[in-house]
Amino acid sequence: MLRGVGDAFAERLTELVGASLAGRDPGREGLARLLAAPDARTLEIVAAVSRVREAAFGRRVKLNLLLNIKSGLCPEDCHYCSQARDSTAPIAAYPMVGEETFLAAAARARELGATRLCLVASGRGPTEREVARVARGVEAVKARDGAMEVCACLGLLGEGQAERLGAAGVFAYNHNLNTSEAFYGEICGTHGFADRRATVERAKAGGLSPCSGALFGMGEGDADVLDAGYALRAMEPDSVPVNFLIPIEGTPLAGLNALTPQRCLRILAVFRLLFPRAEVRIAGGRETHLRSLQPLGLHLANSIFIGDYLTTKGQAAEADLAMIADAGFEVEGGGPAVPPAPALAVALKRGPLE
Ligand code: SF4
Repeated sequence: MLRGVGDAFAERLTELVGASLAGRDPGREGLARLLAAPDARTLEIVAAVSRVREAAFGRRVKLNLLLNIKSGLCPEDCHYCSQARDSTAPIAAYPMVGEETFLAAAARARELGATRLCLVASGRGPTEREVARVARGVEAVKARDGAMEVCACLGLLGEGQAERLGAAGVFAYNHNLNTSEAFYGEICGTHGFADRRATVERAKAGGLSPCSGALFGMGEGDADVLDAGYALRAMEPDSVPVNFLIPIEGTPLAGLNALTPQRCLRILAVFRLLFPRAEVRIAGGRETHLRSLQPLGLHLANSIFIGDYLTTKGQAAEADLAMIADAGFEVEGGGPAVPPAPALAVALKRGPLE
């Protein structure tokens, strides 16, 4: 698109970036315009907002590995989730895994260059026995690899549970707000937005690093995206996962396809502007929704999951590593134990190596 002197959109974009870099609220109105901008403006938005990413994180990309430590059979009814009470999605269901699985996942994380291991359990919240089991698994991981950052995501926290997890070596706690307070009732009937916010506050008060983000593509409007962003900003999370709905067959949101790669990039740009110094992570749905534009997402977010998601496959870890290198970024913490071979790009065209 040709632009002349006095291009109002470009000027506003510069103001948004300036405010974010200075640590000020970029302003809801400006963010709303950015979110609603035509696709033809997206590349310009990515280029401008990448300055905010680079100011705090340079060219580094943090890698995180997910381990689903307890799957399925959840009594809650989150409409987006294949593990929910009413979901008929054919997923694996198992109780909490043992110490050996924690250790194997931590070793795999290290092998791939991931510096954070995210332990995720289905359910409304952990029982005391489950907290004790997670604590034992994390103690074993930390005894073997003290530098591995561990994040737990176990649902709504009860009194004292954050402190017990922290004492075992858990560094961060993930609990997403997911969407706006106004839209929350549309996606879940068994717990509310306030419950989620209370758990993030409880994790913080218990000394854990707050990790809280959102999930988009569930039918929410621009106002919900911004409300969710500002509600998260008020809680000052250290890391902010941005998920894009994978509409899984057997869930109420199956068949919903409300996202385009360009919209995903604009959402990521909004979140980078709202969280200039927090870790913004492109989480679930990266491959499904950003597709061939995934490398552009790295200019906004500074963190991704490597490997698979909770109940869906991610692209091969080797493909992620090749993408990071090809886009001119570097893996935080030194990268994988064995870097991918240069000939990998050819092999990847034939499919995953695993
Ligand atoms: S998101 Fe968590 S709480 Fe909600 S249904 Fe899935 S496993 Fe249960």
